[in-house]
Amino acid sequence: MKGSLKLGKIAGIGVFVHWTFSILIAFIIFSNYRAEHSIEQILWSLTFILSIFFTVFLHELGHALAAKRYNIKTKDITLLPIGGLARLESIPEKPKEELVVALAGPAVNIGLAVITVLFIALPDPESLTVQLTAGVNSSNFFLNFFIVNIWLALFNLIPAFPMDGGRVLRAILSMNMKRHVATNIAARIGQLLAIGFVFLGFFTNPFLIFIGFFIFLGAQAEATYTQTKSMLEGYTVKDVLMQHYQTIDASQPVSTAVQMLLNTQCKNFLVMENSTPVGTLSREEIIKALSVNGDGETVYAVMNRDLVFLDADMPLEKAFQQIQQHKSSLIPVMSGSQLVGIIDKENILEFLMVKNAQTGRGKLLI
Ligand SMILES: [Zn+2]
Repeated sequence: MKGSLKLGKIAGIGVFVHWTFSILIAFIIFSNYRAEHSIEQILWSLTFILSIFFTVFLHELGHALAAKRYNIKTKDITLLPIGGLARLESIPEKPKEELVVALAGPAVNIGLAVITVLFIALPDPESLTVQLTAGVNSSNFFLNFFIVNIWLALFNLIPAFPMDGGRVLRAILSMNMKRHVATNIAARIGQLLAIGFVFLGFFTNPFLIFIGFFIFLGAQAEATYTQTKSMLEGYTVKDVLMQHYQTIDASQPVSTAVQMLLNTQCKNFLVMENSTPVGTLSREEIIKALSVNGDGETVYAVMNRDLVFLDADMPLEKAFQQIQQHKSSLIPVMSGSQLVGIIDKENILEFLMVKNAQTGRGKLLI
């Protein structure tokens, strides 16, 4: 994520903290200072908030390690003021696996709460309120830690997809129905709860407003994604392949690319060197090259070298996933060692629109 500072690496996963985290720390110091708390009190508050974020990190690590069991890598874990984010390379599609990965996070919190409760004496309800309103100090630190962990486990298990509880719900639903239908139901419930969060946030904690927005948008994005993927089922890359495309030689100057851009309908070019694809060049990359270096550079110097190849027989839904991940403007398609055509995101979207019109569903969630 942009604006994140790397803290380290664990089990091959980069751990980052987002810069906005410093706002949270500053806010805690400021509000403690304004309430005329002692330095000692401020330090306790800070230690406590850092311990909570360490807990959040362990929660995310729980998801990541559970995913690793199913050979799913985690790109990174980022700590944000509203919680943690583990970016898994993909979400397990088997319901049982998704269930385990979703439950692994809250299970960490429950585990931490169980360990903590062994070392503290739980006070009676009356003195509990007194202790909790007194602010964090040496005598109630672990009591607060225990309560936060119970709260984190429960909060994450609210079935507001794509929160953990929502994923649990989708996994259970997809045991009995198609995954995209299950996702749709879970996403709608998630969005309803998200509206509830925003509403509640106005009267209680403003953080809930942010969380509500994230859930609402996240639910929509995932519902769209799974619906699109389900519509691509049963097709292969061959079905949407474009056999007519523009190529440009890597040794050509950018000015040639500009001419081709103006003379043809093409916006993306496949860059070739000795009849082999070596990169791609998009309209945006051409314009960027012009504004930085003029048109004298070679295509090779300004092209996108992050080239991925797809096999003509690859299932289309898998290809769609790869295109989304790489954000390539254009991907060459191979059959064995032979270049047989290209594919891009627009291609697939057009294919979906045609298919959608044919099946008469009328509404496309893109
Ligand atoms: Zn979680």
